[in-house]
Parts: sequence; structure tokens; C-alpha cells
Amino acid sequence: MTGPVVVAYGAGVDSTALLIGLHQDGIKPDLILFADTGDEKPATYAYLPIIAAWLARVGFPPLTVVKNPRPKSGDQSLSDSCLRLGTLPALAYGKHQCSLVWKIAPQVAFLKTWPRAMEARAAGHPVTILIGYDNGPRDTARRYRAEGKAMPGCVNAFPLIAWGWDRAECKRQITRTGLPLPVKSACFHCPASKPEEIRALQATTPALYAKALLMERTARARGLRRIAGLGRRFSWESVTAQMSLLPVTGESEAA
Ligand code: SF4
Repeated sequence: MTGPVVVAYGAGVDSTALLIGLHQDGIKPDLILFADTGDEKPATYAYLPIIAAWLARVGFPPLTVVKNPRPKSGDQSLSDSCLRLGTLPALAYGKHQCSLVWKIAPQVAFLKTWPRAMEARAAGHPVTILIGYDNGPRDTARRYRAEGKAMPGCVNAFPLIAWGWDRAECKRQITRTGLPLPVKSACFHCPASKPEEIRALQATTPALYAKALLMERTARARGLRRIAGLGRRFSWESVTAQMSLLPVTGESEAA
């Protein structure tokens, strides 16, 4: 690799394992980028200082946190933008603009003016972006889609797949290093959330759950028709409403 090496860090299991594997192989990245949508889960924000301390301990560069570079409206987060526009994250409609605008664009914008990337471009060398796709079947398929979609002036590489690390191995490596396992990294309102994750959000962070429902209600009031809600074919409200019909385990009937 002649150009600089950049880790696209997502603060989840795979990209954390990627950092650990690089350290084991003696490869020090030049930059570690984390794109913050403003809507990461509290556990993800809590993980950032933990990984930052580990990075400092092993002599890796600190995390560089980037955010949407063109919030025309002053929106501080994807959810702010959805509430203002009366819409839902694009993934709810089967599209990917939410991650393109809030995850990829801030990294592209940063790399555009990052001196090391500018020097590499001038010398005709690409920036290598290391992506934490693991060696499981789902991520292997994503890797083929991502291969031809590198950011301008960059090439994508997938070390976990090259090392043969699947998700279980990634978890093993994180634990072996003495780091806690990060939670699944995604916006708290991500339309890809499973019903059990929606219920967990309601139980652990009711304010964020309430904000997700407000996003659905706002979109509905502004004419949401094609989809039922954040779950595309179902609304998050319906998931937790069903839940409230179930008897609460251990609760006395006489209470
Ligand atoms: S985590 Fe989900 S909602 Fe957030 S940007 Fe990615 S796809 Fe969109």
C-alpha cells in the first residue's frame, strides 16, 4: 500500500475487531474515521472513549469523528432532518440515501481536504479504505457490492475477510484483547432494527424510543402512504403495542 491507510470505523463488533487485527499484524493506520449521524445509540457513544483509550495505548491515531458536512438546515442529526421534512430514514423506503448522506458523505468530504489524501492523489496513489466486513456469508456478499463503490480516489479493502474472521471470531478477538463487546452499531431508529431491538430500545432508552415514534407520527401526519412506518411493512408503534397486550411475567394479577 503506497497511499495512506484509513479505517472506516463503525464502532461495532466487526470494525473493532478490524483495529485489533491490524494491531496484531503490525499495521498502523494513518487515519481512523468515525461518521456520527447524531443518532448513534447511547451505548455506541459510550464505547467511543473506550476504544479511544485502547487506540492511545497501542499507539494508533485517535478517532477522527466526522459529521454530515452540509446540514443546509442546521439539522444536527438524521432524526432532526426526518422530523423537519416529515419523512423517515431512506432505508424505510428501501433506499440507502440516509447512510450515503450521513455516513459516507462526511468521510468523503473529510478525505477531500485531508493533506495525506491530497498528496497521495497528486502522486497518483489511491487511499486504501479498510472496511470491517466479516467473513460470514452476509458480509461477503456486501463486500462484492462495495468493491466497485469506493469513494473518489480510494480503493476498498476487507481485511477481516482476508483473515477469515467471521463474527464469532471477531467477538473472540475483542474479548481476548480485554475490550468489552460493542453493541450493534446503527442509528437508534434504524429501519433495519428487529422487533426485539425495538422493544429493547423502549425498555432501555424510552426518550429515544419516543423520538422514533414521533418520527413515524410526523411522517404519517405529513402524508406517509407507501409504507407502514419505520419497519417499512409495520410501524414501530404496532410492535410495542402488541407487546403491551402480553401479560407481564411475574406480575401479580391482584396487584
Ligand atoms: S444506521 Fe440505518 S438509519 Fe442510520 S444511516 Fe444507516 S441505514 Fe440509515
